[in-house]
Amino acid sequence: MEKITFSNMAQLIATESEAYEYTESLRWPDKPVCPHCGVIGDHYYLKPSNGVSRATTRGSVSERRVWKCKDCRKQFSVTTGTIFHGSKVSLRIWLFVFFEMCANKNGLAAREISRKYGVAPKTAWFMTQRIREAMKSRGGSMSGNIVADETYIGGKPENWHANDPRRSEFGNTTARKTAVVAPISSETDEIRTKPVTTVSGPNIRRFITENIAFNTSTLHTDSAGVYRTVGKEMTAHHVVNHHLGQYVTEFSDGTNKAENFFSQLKRSISGTHHNISPEHLNRYLAEFSFRHGTHFLSDTERMVKLMGQVAGIRLSYRPLTTGA
Ligand SMILES: [Zn+2]
Repeated sequence: MEKITFSNMAQLIATESEAYEYTESLRWPDKPVCPHCGVIGDHYYLKPSNGVSRATTRGSVSERRVWKCKDCRKQFSVTTGTIFHGSKVSLRIWLFVFFEMCANKNGLAAREISRKYGVAPKTAWFMTQRIREAMKSRGGSMSGNIVADETYIGGKPENWHANDPRRSEFGNTTARKTAVVAPISSETDEIRTKPVTTVSGPNIRRFITENIAFNTSTLHTDSAGVYRTVGKEMTAHHVVNHHLGQYVTEFSDGTNKAENFFSQLKRSISGTHHNISPEHLNRYLAEFSFRHGTHFLSDTERMVKLMGQVAGIRLSYRPLTTGA
């Protein structure tokens, strides 16, 4: 496949109809797949009478490329049942935003999309949330050498003066922040992330159980007590003791991988996204985890990979705005 850059994509998808064709080439490299019944290739293209567009039932003109399944007789397009489905935003703009979110290390702020593409701020935010939803991990259990660490995101009470009255209100400076746990595969850099209300042994064990195959994995952590129990259940548990100035062991580079991920995440949150409310943090984590775990891919390969994850996600506006 030709290397995707912003400028050659702009040339390739000068019209909405071309944006559909382009998405078809990414999602269906061989033949169209009917989203209704799953049949591959047994479809015919419903060519509009003027070649490019047709009137919609709402009276507007659409360049959406429509296919009809010979098997189930239903119509579909490349956006049916995907995160792009039912949006008033043109597929062209979706693709530009999609590409930028795949390629930008710091992500893309909704206000930037709104300014650049002329969509309403709320719409821009909704687009980013849908794309993040597609970025959520589709993988099964990870195994091998797993580095795990936790950090705290949100609020900046540590910047408050010692006598700041807000301190007494919130007490412990970590209490106002959201904890994030992140196990990372040393071999593949695949990463799973989750916000947790409390960093406790049982909470961490639960998350690690859901994501790591115990009997084929070795855990690498710092000396935090919360990993002790779960570490015993795995093939081995290697600990670096930061209090003793130890950062690497003969077995691994300690928790460096997790710390690098966290520092990139925090830089981007403060630089690009500013404040992220705790109820939406999981989607931002999915975004950063997706890019981190695919950093060895080219932007083109990453975009193709994400195109493979756009279907089957139902995300209406309402649950998003209520934080569900
Ligand atoms: Zn069908």
